[in-house]
Amino acid sequence: MSEWEKIIPKPRSRFLKVKCPDCGNEQIVFDHATTVVHCNVCGATLAEPSGGKAKIKGDIVAVLE
Ligand SMILES: [Zn+2]
Repeated sequence: MSEWEKIIPKPRSRFLKVKCPDCGNEQIVFDHATTVVHCNVCGATLAEPSGGKAKIKGDIVAVLE
């Protein structure tokens, strides 16, 4: 590992399985989503971008790496 990598930790991006709080649909969401992610079934907001890591609105039921 170089000095540079020690100073700037690499953000680990993952995919999350998120359960929609409104309808219970489970959907895969990128945890560094740069756009708002909506539920495929009811259209509720599941994730909002927040300058890096997305803000997850529903329950995270699984983490896929
Ligand atoms: Zn939904």
